[in-house]
Amino acid sequence: MWVAQFTDTMIIVLMIAAIITVFIGDHRDTAVIAGVVLLNAGLGFSQARRAERAMDSLRTLAAPTVNVIRGSTPMVVAQRELVVGDVVVLDVGTVVPADCRLVDAPNLRVNEAMLTGESIPVEKRAAIGVLDALPDRRPISDRNDKVFMGTAVTSGRAVAIVEAIAMDTELGGIAQSIDAQDAPATPLQQRLAVLGRRIAYGAIGVCGVVFVVGVMAGEAPKRMLLAAVSLAVAAIPESLPAVVTISLALGAQRMAAHHAIIRNLPAVETLGSVTVIATDKTGTLTQGRMVVTRAWTPNGTLWNVAGNGYAPEGNITSRSGASTSRDHQTPVDDDALVALARASALCNDAALQAPRGDQLDWEAIGDPTEGALLAFAAKAGCDISGIANTYPRLGEVPFDSTRKAMTTVHDEGAGVVFAVTKGAVEVVVPASSPAHASVIEIADAWAADGMRVLVLSGSRHESLAAAWDDHEGARTIYGLVALSDPAREGVEAAIDAAHRAGIRTVMITGDHPMTALSIARSLGVGVGGSTGSGSDDGRMITGPALAAEGGAHLADHVEQIDVYARATSEQKLDIVEAWQATGAVVAMTGDGVNDAPALRRADIGIAMGRNGTEVAKEAADMVLADDNFVTIVAAVEEGRRIYDNIRRFVQYGLTGGTAEVWVMIVAPFLGLPLALLPAQILFINLLTHGLPGVALGVEAAEPDAMARPPRAADESIFGRGLWQRTLVGGMFMAAVSLGVAEWAYRSGRPWQTMLFSVLVLLQLGTALAVRSETASTFTLGVASNRFLVWSVVAMIGAQGAAVYVPGLQDLFATTALSLGDVAVVLIASTATFWFVEIDKLVGRRRAGRLSTRGGAAAVQP
Ligand code: ATP
Repeated sequence: MWVAQFTDTMIIVLMIAAIITVFIGDHRDTAVIAGVVLLNAGLGFSQARRAERAMDSLRTLAAPTVNVIRGSTPMVVAQRELVVGDVVVLDVGTVVPADCRLVDAPNLRVNEAMLTGESIPVEKRAAIGVLDALPDRRPISDRNDKVFMGTAVTSGRAVAIVEAIAMDTELGGIAQSIDAQDAPATPLQQRLAVLGRRIAYGAIGVCGVVFVVGVMAGEAPKRMLLAAVSLAVAAIPESLPAVVTISLALGAQRMAAHHAIIRNLPAVETLGSVTVIATDKTGTLTQGRMVVTRAWTPNGTLWNVAGNGYAPEGNITSRSGASTSRDHQTPVDDDALVALARASALCNDAALQAPRGDQLDWEAIGDPTEGALLAFAAKAGCDISGIANTYPRLGEVPFDSTRKAMTTVHDEGAGVVFAVTKGAVEVVVPASSPAHASVIEIADAWAADGMRVLVLSGSRHESLAAAWDDHEGARTIYGLVALSDPAREGVEAAIDAAHRAGIRTVMITGDHPMTALSIARSLGVGVGGSTGSGSDDGRMITGPALAAEGGAHLADHVEQIDVYARATSEQKLDIVEAWQATGAVVAMTGDGVNDAPALRRADIGIAMGRNGTEVAKEAADMVLADDNFVTIVAAVEEGRRIYDNIRRFVQYGLTGGTAEVWVMIVAPFLGLPLALLPAQILFINLLTHGLPGVALGVEAAEPDAMARPPRAADESIFGRGLWQRTLVGGMFMAAVSLGVAEWAYRSGRPWQTMLFSVLVLLQLGTALAVRSETASTFTLGVASNRFLVWSVVAMIGAQGAAVYVPGLQDLFATTALSLGDVAVVLIASTATFWFVEIDKLVGRRRAGRLSTRGGAAAVQP
């Protein structure tokens, strides 16, 4: 990495300058240049290290985990802790963590494109009999009783035994190293690199002019050559790339501390320009902690289910109050409820875990919906731990969110095969069913209260084959359950904050339209946020309706839709594309395998860290460690802050550079000989760009960061008046410094030392003033960026040393200033600070006038 610091173009220019000084015999400048080169390289190196460490720690945060069973206890371990012989559980969406032999693999399909290039998922089955320990020499495509690291489970699930890990796997053999490659430059970094190059060419041109002007004014060509080269270095913001990288990396680290883990650095800057957040409902807007609160059985009884979370304790009482109340220890005497409970426990892959250690709550392992059903079954007196042995499972059709149902088939004894299906009402209950009307009526009413409603049904058969033939056919309905899933704390406020920041929130859910609308309404999803008009039915579309009109037509009215209900993962891609066609910058959340294409297509793909599949995480730009919507909005604010800070640095760095160039060009015309010596220019550059530059990167968000619309995705970093401010600010700075120098020159004072000092201090004043683009520095307070204040103090100290310490006086050709001269320097040095403050004041006044006149400052999403 040291080498990288030395190859930087500017450093090369400096080294050439150093060589020139050696030939000229100007040892003082050689020493200064060598010092600057080393310091610059050191600074660049330490910043690159910091950025890299930040990214490393992010990578460990995003490291994949694996579900294993160790000593018959299910647990989650980090993939790197996996050992040969571990029993792993693979679900849909798992990226296989190691090469494994399958022990159980119902309906397992795996996409092995990673290894074989074949993109159609292949069927797998459990290994039969005892396999010998010899190395398996069959081609991968023939080994259908094994799964391989890096491949993805697309359907079914499996239990498998790890046979090889890491570099011993097939993937390891191919890749030898699957190390993450160096991240490519972000769009902003690329644009700034182009900008840097342009400035460099411009500066070289200007230096040529300075050289010629100086020589014509009678300066020694050698000295002028050196001055011109130093000026080039001063004018070029060589610390810009480092500041951008470190701002992005540290920003990503800050986001990680707030549960948003960035997987691609460009996402940090894109976040700031997001205009639409398309979010899942369950677990993101809501807590994803389901609890069954109501049930209905076909004997006409409505039940209230009490209890907290996943604890298998709580009374079930009939709504009429006629039936006896009971708890989970007393046997239940209502046959219909018993049948519903038994079906809930059988058609279920979840498990409940009693509180462990300092945990207070029961947890569901597996699907939260199924965890809630299990707790419900236990409350109704069902023996949830023994039931799997009483009715061994013979087969299953796993839940998938497109079909919205799940079926399991069991041996009921006495030659009877029992199939249980649960799922969305309109899928499971055919219109021809006698119970259809009453079931739909109750389900709709509950959905309108924001509940997730599932129906449970079953059928009996003589054989497994008959069950498979008919499992979707005539069924007995056991009843309905309603699950409540409360909204997450802070979501309503976050949606409102997003709205005020010009960001539209749309909800995409697999749930019933009424459930979706009810929750959307309560959270303020839709135009107007919680304070506005809210959602109405016209702002919702269902997945089937969307499919009927054809995804391509969505672009025509996508801006009118806030809620997508009964939508499939595949439709998320249509939604992203339709929004993008309107010019929106879209953040899209997802958790399943089928969400991956939409996550990849979205400008910011966001995967769920807790409940998301590995496939979704790998497709995402950002992973939410807490699955929480609020975190997305916080990350957007952080993205805006980081972008603003980079703009601040650009304004600050280029204003100073412009001023130095003007001083060098204009000074000879004022009769001042070589205005600044090379050593002085380099010192100014080092002082002002070093610490204060980095300190600007940690500036807090602008007070109005979330009160203005998103910046346009293609906005130039100089947009919104920045280049005008930079240019005018630089000229003003030059005018003040030259004014002081001219006055000092005419009155026989040490004009060069004064000019040198004023230029340094004026830049430090600018650093303090550009902390906000709009707000007055006095309202920001010192405490919010102590780092900047201290670095300014330190730089003033360093400048003092350059003027008063004898050795340094020689190095920088300075003369000690009298108290009076210091006073003049200090007073003059506040000029740019005031200049920027007045500019901001005028800007605020103008904005105030506009907003009182016609609400131009109000945000229109
Ligand atoms: P969201 O987008 O809000 O996170 P989702 O799209 O993940 O929700 P799904 O989990 O796909 O929603 O559920 C869609 C529908 O499928 C539910 O409304 C429910 O009717 C049914 N369903 C959900 N989970 C199960 C399950 N485990 N077994 C059977 N059916 C289920």
